[in-house]
Amino acid sequence: MSDQVEQREFQAEARQLLQLMVHSIYSNKDSFLRELVSNASDALDKLRLAAYQDKDLDVDTSDLHIDLDLDSTARTLTVRDNGIGMSRDEVVDLIGTLAKSGTAEMRRKLQESNESTEELIGQFGVGFYSTFMVADKVDLLTRKAGENTATRWESSGDGTYTIATVDDAPQGTSVTLHLKPEDADDELHDYTAPWKIRQLVKKYSDFISWPIRMEVEKTVPASTEEGAENTEPTVTVETETINSRTALWAKPKSEVSDEEYKEFYRHIAHAWDEPLDVIAMKAEGTFEYQALLFIPSQAPFDLFNRDGHTGVQLYVKRVFIMGDCDELMPEYLRFIKGVVDAQDLSLNVSREILQQDRQIKVIRRSLTKKVLSAIKDLQANRPDDYATFWTQFGRAFKEGLLSDPDNRETVLGLSSFASTFSPDTPTTLADYVSRMRDGQEQIFYATGESRRLLESSPHLEAFKAKGYEVLLLTDPVDEVWVESVPEFQGKALQSVAKGEVDLGSGDDTADADRTEFADLLTWLQKTLDDHVKEVRLSTRLTSSPACLITDTFGITPQLARMYRASGQEVPVGKRILEINPEHALVTGLRDALASSQDGLSDTAELLYGTALLAEGGSLDDPARFAAILADRLAKTF
Ligand code: ADP
Ligand code: MG
Repeated sequence: MSDQVEQREFQAEARQLLQLMVHSIYSNKDSFLRELVSNASDALDKLRLAAYQDKDLDVDTSDLHIDLDLDSTARTLTVRDNGIGMSRDEVVDLIGTLAKSGTAEMRRKLQESNESTEELIGQFGVGFYSTFMVADKVDLLTRKAGENTATRWESSGDGTYTIATVDDAPQGTSVTLHLKPEDADDELHDYTAPWKIRQLVKKYSDFISWPIRMEVEKTVPASTEEGAENTEPTVTVETETINSRTALWAKPKSEVSDEEYKEFYRHIAHAWDEPLDVIAMKAEGTFEYQALLFIPSQAPFDLFNRDGHTGVQLYVKRVFIMGDCDELMPEYLRFIKGVVDAQDLSLNVSREILQQDRQIKVIRRSLTKKVLSAIKDLQANRPDDYATFWTQFGRAFKEGLLSDPDNRETVLGLSSFASTFSPDTPTTLADYVSRMRDGQEQIFYATGESRRLLESSPHLEAFKAKGYEVLLLTDPVDEVWVESVPEFQGKALQSVAKGEVDLGSGDDTADADRTEFADLLTWLQKTLDDHVKEVRLSTRLTSSPACLITDTFGITPQLARMYRASGQEVPVGKRILEINPEHALVTGLRDALASSQDGLSDTAELLYGTALLAEGGSLDDPARFAAILADRLAKTF
């Protein structure tokens, strides 16, 4: 008996993703089975843990397993587990919407849809919806552990689903796929053929720790003994466990194939890409643990939107304890996926206990070191993979320059930065240093919003003219870490927009220049007193008349903007105006000043305003600037 069947619509993004699945030409549609088995396995993990933590929970955990039922006549495949199950609300939330994916990024990508299905599937890890690659109707029946009523959910993947509460169902979840007719005669995609299913489980899910069972026909040969009863061969049906259930992390790396690692990665990471690297660790002695970590090859689109969650699962003596175990991996390595199996923790260890646990801190420290050395290996020996790593995760990785002072030197060495040396290939600091010019003592960098803006900024002029390479740092985190990283390999990091720079111009007319411009400097200083703290002659300009410089220890306007965006007000303090003694506007102003000061203060303001505009800054009073400029231009006719 069931209550009224209710029809509902999928949430918009879910509908789009479903469309994609229904019409998928994804070359590897076999992977739907991995997704269903993976979900069933997660549900069994969760139930075991729930029963452990709540002794009053009325559940039977004596025979947790996954069943696969094949019906070649009805052309259905059912994947059933006796795990945690879902409540009605959970079915609506988890299956009817893309809770984890309801982000603007996802919506944008789906709308643009100029990427291939394959790429989109890879990025979003479509999970349950992948069933619609092979089924034209999917039924789900589930009862949550501890609840009396169950939920039936059905959909043809066409934008709507039906949901009903039903009185009775076994605890756990069963998912029945009504297979698409076009696959019926296609031997390679006949998911009702036992050999096919056995092959897929071996390939994708062999390591699953719960038994995956399937009914198989066994032919018992006729007995040749005299007086035996079975003189004819007989066919019996037996239930067989078809996965070998070995924990991959407990095996030495040499005994596991790349294929096995890949599928394991996909299971624990809920991902569809290939791992870039596999890190297997085994620690013996006081704290015994094994770890199997993966560097993915594709960043999740919510890398910067995960509330800082990391991707490592904690097991204790082969028993799943928790996912996203943030205590095991620093936040800047949140893209690392994997498993840590500790021998000496208690099975009912909680997050609160983990935060205090000394052993966990030790494990975290060695995992971090190991991951960093794996990245170092990519950098040294697999440049293409290192480049992939950097494009996908560099922005997150650089956060380590701030958050992990113990490993700062290593993180710095493993980082890459855009530079004036090459328009598209980022450089490491070591490579930068190797290209430094004779006598160059500092690593020059510029920070700002975009490469284009930086390249045309007045601050860079002399560096370009004299052939110095400058790092172009455009990520928000760059503004912050450069403040706290003083040097690399003994070479100080120096902003092109801060303090004094000595580019070794080597000309000794500087002093003469200074007296020649002394009056102008004093007058400008007085006139622009509200805006700048000092006016001086510049060595960094070749074509612009002026630029603004921050004190060596001052806060740049970009950094101040970032603080403001995060709700913190920091005073920017006045900056230094540097003027170009070679520029006609500057020499003209100097000469005009010698005869009269009339109207020249407007020109001084224009000089200051253009310096601000040229670095991409915004004027305090744009209307006033525009009025003065228009007035000046009018006088040119
Ligand atoms: P993911 O596994 O990456 O979270 P899926 O689309 O595979 O995404 O599944 C969505 C959610 O639905 C799961 O996170 C889980 O909460 C729930 N779910 C799916 N299958 C089951 C199942 N067999 N038992 C219990 N919950 C399930
Ligand atoms: Mg899943």
